[in-house]
Amino acid sequence: CERTLVAVKPDGVQRRLVGDVIKRFERRGFKLVGMKLLQANEGLLAEHYHELRRKPFYPALIHYMTSGPVVAMVWEGYNVVRTSRAMVGDTDSAEAKPGTIRGDFSIHVSRNVVHASDSVETAQREISLWFHSNELVEWDCCDYSNTYQL
Ligand code: GDP
Ligand code: MG
Repeated sequence: CERTLVAVKPDGVQRRLVGDVIKRFERRGFKLVGMKLLQANEGLLAEHYHELRRKPFYPALIHYMTSGPVVAMVWEGYNVVRTSRAMVGDTDSAEAKPGTIRGDFSIHVSRNVVHASDSVETAQREISLWFHSNELVEWDCCDYSNTYQL
């Protein structure tokens, strides 16, 4: 089943938005299979944001992401990568639609509250970067037949 990495960034943790973010994924019907609070180090973030290393905002991004703890989560379900990106909203908070996490809780791209993997391949890479396999839990949701056609 498809999985994605979602993280509440340091601004989201500081602003006590962790519960709001989790609530949206739970209510949509996705299954939480991994979660931890951690202080990310520069090495982890350098790998995570490898593709952005030459961008002018990269130093500010690493500073922001190491400024406090993040809550990293793995969510599982049908089409979860694409649906999560839709729930999170546009990268630039100023463009993010109301109803999305960024569109409801943020104003500026530099403090946009959450991360979500942008493709299935990226998700696999990011999940193995942030989690050991023994930190992910396989379990059955009791409401499966009300969330999916059997
Ligand atoms: P995402 O996948 O929607 O998070 O966007 P990207 O992968 O393109 O960028 C990663 C993160 O870098 C974004 O979520 C922002 O926190 C940050 N970022 C992206 N573009 C900018 C920018 O132009 N300025 C600043 N300060 N941060 C940016
Ligand atoms: Mg990205």
